Amino acid sequence: MSENGNTCPAVEENFEAARREMVARQIRERGIHSKRVLDAMMDVRRHLFVSRDQASQAYADEPLPIGKAQTISQPFMVAAMAEALSLEGSERVLEVGAGSGYQAAVLSLLARKVVAVETQPALAAAARERLSRLGYSNVRIEEGDGSMGWPPDNSLEGPPTAEYEAILVSAAAPAVPPPLVVQLAEGGRLVIPVGGSENQELLQIVKRHGRTTQRSLYACRFVPLLGRYGWNPIAPGSPRE
Ligand code: SAH
Repeated sequence: MSENGNTCPAVEENFEAARREMVARQIRERGIHSKRVLDAMMDVRRHLFVSRDQASQAYADEPLPIGKAQTISQPFMVAAMAEALSLEGSERVLEVGAGSGYQAAVLSLLARKVVAVETQPALAAAARERLSRLGYSNVRIEEGDGSMGWPPDNSLEGPPTAEYEAILVSAAAPAVPPPLVVQLAEGGRLVIPVGGSENQELLQIVKRHGRTTQRSLYACRFVPLLGRYGWNPIAPGSPRE
């Protein structure tokens, strides 16, 4: 594979066939019906978001290691979470836990603007480089603790109530981080795995008239959310609730 991700046409065709199979068997047949989500899953070349030696596994029905003890989520989970955000194309989306940038790439095809926060500097740098090389120009990767949310305009000044129509947390939280609810716009959707360190429930939380309702979508298992509202502080000694 060359640096911009181009392979010879025959290899690229194999990846495309594997991707088509993934969308049909792992995603559509398991109940994801949104055409926009299915198209986005077909569009994003997942094999370019994993290391070269993982590329042959890129369309398998499982999460894959991306380094730093982190994983790129299983394709079905990526699609299910995207569908649960009910994106129509005009939204500002926050993703907490950018990892490889794969989920952010999928979301970028479904919304207007994606801000994806990653706590691991090496992963954030790699995701930023990869997304820009592949032309995903409406995604911004930020390095830091996304459990506290993120100001959409990149400035720490101004009103603290940044607003996103959709927020996705791609790591398991012990409880819903309050700042994420604050940063959710009226009518906005927050999708987040919440529970113990081994097993969680994927929750969809909707904010209306300042109040939230929630429903449980799937049982799931994610790597832990760290940071202020995660499992343990990123910086030793930093305050916790
Ligand atoms: N969505 C990613 C996979 C996420 S794995 C993809 O498509 O590849 C979860 C990621 O969350 C890991 O990369 C981990 O480093 C990151 N993470 C954990 N706690 C975080 C926090 N508080 N803020 C931002 N990122 C965090």
